[in-house]
Amino acid sequence: MFHRIFKQLTGRPFSFALALFCFVLFLSGLFINHEFSRIRENIKHEAFVNLLTLGARLEGEINSHLVVLRGLKAEIAINSDITQSEFESLAQEYLQSQLSISHLGLAPDLVITNIYPLQGNERALGLDYRTVPQQMAVIQEAIDKNEIIIAGPVKLVQGNTALVVRVPVFIGENRDQLWGVITGVIRDQMLFEQAGIAENLWGLNIAIRGHNGLGEEGDVFYGSEKTFTADAVMVDVILPSGRWQIAASSNNGWQVDQSHYFSYWFVAILVSLVIAMASYLISTNYREKLIAIETANYRANYDGLTNLSNRYHFTQQLKATIHEHQRHQHKFALFFIDLDYFKEVNDNWGHHAGDELLRLFADRMSSIVRSDDLLARLAGDEFVIVLKDIETATQAELLAEKLQMELGEPYPIQGRHLSVTHSLGIAIFPEDGQDLEALLQNADRAMYEAKRAGKNRIFFFNEQLSQEVKRHVQVHNEILDGLRHGEFELYFQPIMDLEQQSISKCEALVRWNHPKKGLVSPIEFIPIAEHTGAICNLGDWILEETCHLLNKMAEKGVDVQVSINRSVAEFQGRNVDQRWLNTLKKYHIDTSRVVFEITESLLMGGVESQLEKINTLRASGIAFSIDDFGTGYSAINYLRHYPVDYLKIDRSFVKDVMDDEQDRTLVEVIIKMGQTLGIKVVAEGVEDQAQLDLLSSYGCDFIQGYHLGKPMPFDQFLSFCLVYSPLETA
Ligand code: C2E
Ligand code: CA
Ligand code: CA
Repeated sequence: MFHRIFKQLTGRPFSFALALFCFVLFLSGLFINHEFSRIRENIKHEAFVNLLTLGARLEGEINSHLVVLRGLKAEIAINSDITQSEFESLAQEYLQSQLSISHLGLAPDLVITNIYPLQGNERALGLDYRTVPQQMAVIQEAIDKNEIIIAGPVKLVQGNTALVVRVPVFIGENRDQLWGVITGVIRDQMLFEQAGIAENLWGLNIAIRGHNGLGEEGDVFYGSEKTFTADAVMVDVILPSGRWQIAASSNNGWQVDQSHYFSYWFVAILVSLVIAMASYLISTNYREKLIAIETANYRANYDGLTNLSNRYHFTQQLKATIHEHQRHQHKFALFFIDLDYFKEVNDNWGHHAGDELLRLFADRMSSIVRSDDLLARLAGDEFVIVLKDIETATQAELLAEKLQMELGEPYPIQGRHLSVTHSLGIAIFPEDGQDLEALLQNADRAMYEAKRAGKNRIFFFNEQLSQEVKRHVQVHNEILDGLRHGEFELYFQPIMDLEQQSISKCEALVRWNHPKKGLVSPIEFIPIAEHTGAICNLGDWILEETCHLLNKMAEKGVDVQVSINRSVAEFQGRNVDQRWLNTLKKYHIDTSRVVFEITESLLMGGVESQLEKINTLRASGIAFSIDDFGTGYSAINYLRHYPVDYLKIDRSFVKDVMDDEQDRTLVEVIIKMGQTLGIKVVAEGVEDQAQLDLLSSYGCDFIQGYHLGKPMPFDQFLSFCLVYSPLETA
């Protein structure tokens, strides 16, 4: 199975390789696509993790600034009357650390009293926050919540931006007495720098939003607004009150580098190419091997010159044929053929001519035998033929004669015409040998005898068979000649309807006016004609002649139904039913005027095609009669299943009907049986009145026999019918 598929695929290596290339490339495409979306997810994930770190760092930075403010808050809570100098030294200490706090301010009772560094900030001293509603709103919120609030970034008067941190301070034992606020101003850009944030980090866009700690509702205050796309990764930065959102996005939508893409495809194409090329090489190689094996097989089984089977192959085939015919109990014929004077052809015309002759001879033989027969060249000018499934040896003889005639026609060789005869020996399976060796040996021996008898001859291995076959073939050929020369004639024997007392039927019986032997009885040649197949030619003539004469009868006013004898062999031809119907049509014969007499063997044979033909003919109006009923299968039991209209009691029973009790009973039973089944009964061979009376008393429908009239030539039959007066019946 796999081998067959592979053989088919590799039958066209290039197409196969091309298909494979496309297939592998397609798979690679799927893989690359999958791989790249995975990489893209990875890049995004990596950015997210980095952003988390960044956010944490920013939170850390903010907290380290808040620590300073919380420290200051604690200091004031203990020492609410802090002096300017105390504050300055404290602030100085705090601001020494690498912080981004630009200045600190104290506002007890919400009025700014201390600022560090004071330089440049003098104007703010004495400012009462309550007079600046913008700032007061945030401060009030911080006081209400008792929470540090980071506002901004806001634009400073100095030009740069900063975050403003408000720290509410409560004093007293329970810390429930508002002291005021501490304000810290943090330079945001510096803070971000310290946290390691840059607008263009890792090749990504970084931005922060959440002005005044409003989260995603607050404005963007760092980086570009565009960074916050749907595709961006985001992380929250938690403030003491509220939060910011920090985002990172990629300019190319997290796409993988184009060059990566190209290199992936480059590799994919390369791999597909390599695989396709490898498959191409393998399959061409495999194909060559297959061809080599097939060639070797062919050489082992066939003869190179004639292309016929060689001895080895033929032996195998013959063994199988013997086996098969043994099983079905069929006959076959083995021909052993040897060219006459082949050595002389070689000597006089050269080996090329000899080879050419063998080739043409073999070709011509192949065209003559049937396709399922065996044909082989054993050696040199020796050939064998096995004619399968033959019925009789005569069939073999007829084919041998055909071969002898056609193979003897001249062959065009080297611009000339060369004729050659051959000697042919025939052995028949199973009579002349049951196994391969015996059959070959006996056919060979018969061929040798044919050579010895003077060449160009056909010899059977079995002498007796040979004699019989020769006689049959001679009769066969004589019948065919006789048909051509009009040597046959139809006689008619009247059949009387016992009830009507009239000649309502007749039987057509063939006679042969042989030029040498005179009038020959059908008993002598019909069986042989059935054997050789000549019955088909004869039967066709009989039907035509009957039709012709039926028309002549009608012209004379004689209206009888005619029975025609049909042999089993006649039903074997293809479409004979249609051919016969066509003949009737050609002569305008009403089918109801024709009865076909057949023997039980045709019905018992169980050959489906033959029964079909009978049914077709009956359906067209031709009646059927069983001839010689009681002799063959005596199948009275089967009678009900037969598709027939009449049966004819064989004359051997009628002959003894008066004297033989058993025959009498049988005749009576047959007649009664026919009556029950609706099959009309004809008794043949009625020779006297006593027989007629008895049959009549049994209820027989028709009688035929010498008592009524012998078979007679047509003209005589016409007169017989015209002058007929009923016989006396009891
Ligand atoms: P069959 O079909 O049984 O034909 C009846 C034979 O009995 C005829 O012999 C006929 O002459 C003979 N016969 C008729 N009445 C009597 C009688 O009262 N006494 C005696 N002793 N014989 C009687 P025939 O014509 O010699 O035919 C012999 C057989 O040859 C036929 O037997 C039939 O099987 C075959 N035959 C004859 N003509 C044809 C034909 O046209 N086609 C085929 N296929 N077979 C035919
Ligand atoms: Ca008959
Ligand atoms: Ca008969």
